[in-house]
Amino acid sequence: MWRSSLSKPKVIISACLLGHLCRYDGKTKKTTEIADAFKDYEIVPFCPEAPLFGTPRERISVVEIDGKNHIITDKTNKNVTKLLRDEINSFIDKNPHATKIVLKSKSPSCGIGTTPILNEKKEKISMGNGIAGDIFLNRYKNVTIIDENESL
Ligand code: SF4
Repeated sequence: MWRSSLSKPKVIISACLLGHLCRYDGKTKKTTEIADAFKDYEIVPFCPEAPLFGTPRERISVVEIDGKNHIITDKTNKNVTKLLRDEINSFIDKNPHATKIVLKSKSPSCGIGTTPILNEKKEKISMGNGIAGDIFLNRYKNVTIIDENESL
């Protein structure tokens, strides 16, 4: 029986896990299990970095400054926190509803609990969330948000 895409549950997935060549190095992290697991869903790819900074691009990291996490470019030391925050909030405004969200592990944008947090000397001091992980957890209150390595 034909089903309208309107009736499908929606899942937001980090685009690099779906095969998009959007990583900082121009590569993908395609995971066929994820695409297979959500074949009956409407899949919405999410990547805040590639539209802002292009691909390939300089790496970025989460850096704790005065007790707050910022996103800083690794070599040129630019603070791109506001750019990313605006991009992520704009995505959420356009996609306010989802049943589930699956995010790429260890990313300064997408990680949830798996992202290295650095001090200003760029030394790892803890593990935490990427900027999108943080904002998603705040704004998608009733949505199941999981790391790619959790059971789907
Ligand atoms: S981890 Fe997130 S920000 Fe990084 S390439 Fe994948 S989707 Fe884009």
